[in-house]
Amino acid sequence: MRKKIVAGNWKMNNDLAETKSLINGIQNEIENLELDNTRVIVSPSYVNLSLALELTSANKIEVASQNMHQAKSGAFTGEVSADMLKSVGIKSVIIGHSERRQYFNETDALLAEKMNTVLANELEAIFCFGELLEDRKSGNHFKVVESQLQNALFHLEAKDFSSIVLAYEPVWAIGTGETASPEQAQEMHAFIRKTLAEKYNQEVADSVSILYGGSVKPANAEEIFSKEDVDGGLIGGASLKPADFAAIIKAI
Ligand code: PGA
Repeated sequence: MRKKIVAGNWKMNNDLAETKSLINGIQNEIENLELDNTRVIVSPSYVNLSLALELTSANKIEVASQNMHQAKSGAFTGEVSADMLKSVGIKSVIIGHSERRQYFNETDALLAEKMNTVLANELEAIFCFGELLEDRKSGNHFKVVESQLQNALFHLEAKDFSSIVLAYEPVWAIGTGETASPEQAQEMHAFIRKTLAEKYNQEVADSVSILYGGSVKPANAEEIFSKEDVDGGLIGGASLKPADFAAIIKAI
């Protein structure tokens, strides 16, 4: 059975005190929930990862990094390596978020390198991808998604997918308040699984968790998560409020 996942991407939000209060808030909200087959992940900024790991060490919340550099070490001012992340206890890394692609020029080719580094370090990748509004409007969304998968992931082997979570995030739905309809999400997730089955095999396609991201809120989470190929969500804005994030977790 595929794992269900609700992951909060905090982006460039929350200082030290706010990180503490948000984690404690989420913990209080979900304390009594039975999280059968469901993972809850939060993703604070680099500087607050250690604190987050400490605060979550005794509970069910996992902590992921929002990014990672592909090189082992060296003269890359401002960057953070896999070794550094592992040394503080990080096991999962978000790779290829649309904001990294858009504002930091991360290309599929670079993301392919990052994926190699993630896997070589026995980390887990939460790999993000999704089409722009113009791609959707011109009917190219399947083609764009297929090429993102092909260029960043399809050099990998079938076994690597046991360390990969996919996050389909149509860029037009991120932070815009506009959500893909549950049917649009299901349609794309089914297409992604079919593409994986064709490239690898049915087992890979059936076992990879595929999250939906883009304006998921308490009001729409349940309907989106009810779709058979949607295994959870990558949540931005609504993950910054304990009650909203908890409501989304309950929806799964
Ligand atoms: P949003 O962000 O939920 O605020 O739309 C999602 C994301 O960027 O992962």
